[in-house]
Amino acid sequence: MGRPLLESIFAGIAPTILYDEPLSMHTTWRIGGPADVLIVPTTLEEVRTVVLTAHANQIPLFIIGRGSNLLVMDGGMRGAVLKLGDKFASVDVSDHSLTALAGRSIVSAAHIAIRHGLSGLEFATGIPGTIGGAVTMNAGAHGGEIKNVLAKATVITPAGTITELFPDELEFRYRHSIVREQHLTIVQAQFDLQPGDSNQLQEKVRTWSKRRLATQPLSLPNCGSVFRNPPGDFAARLIENAGLKGLRRGNAMISELHANFIVNVGQARATDVLWLMCCVQETVQQRFGIRLEPEVRIVGEDETRR
Ligand SMILES: Cc1cc2nc3c(=O)[nH]c(=O)nc-3n(C[C@H](O)[C@H](O)[C@H](O)COP(=O)(O)OP(=O)(O)OC[C@H]3O[C@@H](n4cnc5c(N)ncnc54)[C@H](O)[C@@H]3O)c2cc1C
Repeated sequence: MGRPLLESIFAGIAPTILYDEPLSMHTTWRIGGPADVLIVPTTLEEVRTVVLTAHANQIPLFIIGRGSNLLVMDGGMRGAVLKLGDKFASVDVSDHSLTALAGRSIVSAAHIAIRHGLSGLEFATGIPGTIGGAVTMNAGAHGGEIKNVLAKATVITPAGTITELFPDELEFRYRHSIVREQHLTIVQAQFDLQPGDSNQLQEKVRTWSKRRLATQPLSLPNCGSVFRNPPGDFAARLIENAGLKGLRRGNAMISELHANFIVNVGQARATDVLWLMCCVQETVQQRFGIRLEPEVRIVGEDETRR
C-alpha cells in the first residue's frame, strides 16, 4: 500500500504519525529498516481507533514497545507499527496492587512498587522493556516471572473489543503468551504485590544490577539474550564452549563478555546478526547436538524484497 493511501487512512488518528520511519530508532539493537507508518497514540481511544482502522482496511499492524526483544530486518515493516511507549504510561498504586498502562517502562514500574514497599516486581528492574512487552513475552529474571505477579491484563482485540484477560487465559509459558497469536494489543496490566521492606528490596536490586553490569555488554546496543536457554543448560555456556565469543560479521559481534549477547559495534545490519545467529545454531548443533531457539523475535522483511 502506497504512502498517499496510508496518509489518507491514518490522518489525524494520533498526535504522532511518522512515515518511512527507521525502526533502528525504536529498537535497543539500533537495527531495523523503515516502517511504512509508525503511530504513537497517547490515549486508549486513540489506540483502539488505530487497531480498528488497521483491521477495517486490512493493513498489517505490529505493536512495538521498547523494541528490546526484536530483530527488525533491514527492509523494515510493511503496514502500520503502533508504538506504545512513554506517551501511554500512567501508573497507579493502591493497597497491594500496581496498575500501569502498557507503554510504561517495567523498570520504572518495578522501582515505583519498591518505593511503595511492595514486593514482586523487583525481578524486572533489569528488563528494559515496557509493561506490554513484558506481559507479551512473560519476561522473567532471578527466578521471577510476569505470570507469577500479573492479576489481569486489559487488551484490545483486532475487532476493537476491550476486554480483561486473567493469567490462565494468557497461557503463559517460558517467554511466551498467546498475545501475538491472537493479535491482541495489551493496553494495561494490573499486578498483585506483597508488602515488603523498601530498603531490603533496594539492596537486592542493587546487587543484581552490579552483577548485570559486570557480566553483560550493556555499553553497546544489544537485545539481551539472543537464544533461549535449552532445558537444563545455558545458551551462553554452549556458545562460549563452541568457541564463538568474539565472532564478527560486519558490525555485529558475539560479545566477548556474554556469549548469548550479540552487540552492534557500528551500524550493524540485521542480515549480519541473522548470519551470526545461524552460525551459532549450526555450530552448537554440530558440537553438542542441541538446537538453540531464538528468544528474540525476528520481524520485517529482507532488504531485497523492498
Ligand atoms: C540488556 C537487556 C536485558 C534483557 N534482560 C531480560 C531478562 O532478564 N529477562 C527477559 O525476560 N527479557 C530480557 N530482555 C528482553 C526484553 O527486554 C524483554 O523481552 C521485554 O519484555 C520486551 O519488552 P519491549 O517493550 O521492548 O517489547 P518489544 O521488544 O517491543 O516487543 C516484544 C514482543 O512483544 C510485543 N508487544 C510489545 N508491546 C505490546 C503490547 N502493548 N501489546 C501487544 N504486544 C506487544 C511485540 O509485538 C513483540 O512481539 C532484555 C533485553 C535487553 C536489551
